[in-house]
Amino acid sequence: MLFNMRSEATEEQINHIVVRIKECGYEAHLIRGQERTVIGVVGNSGRHRSELEALSSAPGVEDIVKISHPFKLSARSMRPEGSLIDLGRGVIVGGKEVVVAAGPCAVESREQIHDVAARVSRAGAKLLRGGAFKPRSSPYSFQGMGEEGLKLLREAADKNDLLVVTEVMDPSQIEVMLPYVDVMQVGARNMQNYHLLRALGEVDKAVLLKRGMSATLEELLLSAEYIMAGGNYKVILCERGIRTFDTYLRNTLDIAAIPVIKSLSHLPIFADPSHGTGRRDKVAPMARAAVAAGADGLIIEVHPDPERALSDGVQSLYPDQFAHLMDEIRAIAPAVGRSIAQPVYATS
Ligand code: PEP
Ligand code: MN
Repeated sequence: MLFNMRSEATEEQINHIVVRIKECGYEAHLIRGQERTVIGVVGNSGRHRSELEALSSAPGVEDIVKISHPFKLSARSMRPEGSLIDLGRGVIVGGKEVVVAAGPCAVESREQIHDVAARVSRAGAKLLRGGAFKPRSSPYSFQGMGEEGLKLLREAADKNDLLVVTEVMDPSQIEVMLPYVDVMQVGARNMQNYHLLRALGEVDKAVLLKRGMSATLEELLLSAEYIMAGGNYKVILCERGIRTFDTYLRNTLDIAAIPVIKSLSHLPIFADPSHGTGRRDKVAPMARAAVAAGADGLIIEVHPDPERALSDGVQSLYPDQFAHLMDEIRAIAPAVGRSIAQPVYATS
């Protein structure tokens, strides 16, 4: 259930509803939109539902809406205009600009991450991606550089006016990551790691939540709900391909998930055409399709020397291919009312 407050509702009237919700045994989540405040009611230990319903005629209340689906805080009705997530340094996700994150699958060396950071930044990327803690399918594969990798990411990002997005695999890593990271990525393999999701609900950092390989969209939104229920509303969803009966590509990128999420939820959604296809030559067409379908951002693997990459070289773009793709989506975005940051040309 949610309370739509009138645009002229006073703080006292809003507060009264919050107090009454709590007295009835539920949690109240306040979302302040541009025009009005919405108060979400969540929890399953509450009583006195009829008392809550009686509040529909309290001063300041426009109406109450019963939400029939199991996700509440992430539901579109909580914020019909859509969420804007401010990542800092002027980068806002969910607005007109389609925000692009790019970089290698894993941080491998100072030289590698600096090289790729400079090149993706010049092409218009706003975030630098790169795993320092890597969830590899095999325990014998490269597992990432750990904290040293985080330091290199931060250094390369700062030098090139980028923000950092990198994966957190376990709650015990959060503290060490906080000083280096702008966006905490939850990987597909951890989408239903509820312990991790709850821990991220208590952190003041945006979270990029990737869809599990065989997760439904409802399950994806319920995972977002775990983070939001802790008070962290800065959740960005990410479609990264799912397992289907087709085995030609690594995964099947579910492009339709983008408009479906847009209708179900106010949260922004990215697409990851790299893991979504697993093949370098399929990344650009799927990136173009995702922008056309309304994605709020893309996360793309780029490596200066993909043949020698320690992970996911097969799906990593060469930096020049990435710059070319950015030019292509710069042409597509305006057709759907969006824009992409301009490239930065060297001045010296
Ligand atoms: C990644 O982004 O490097 C990654 C491991 O992605 P996913 O969790 O989607 O497999
Ligand atoms: Mn990867």
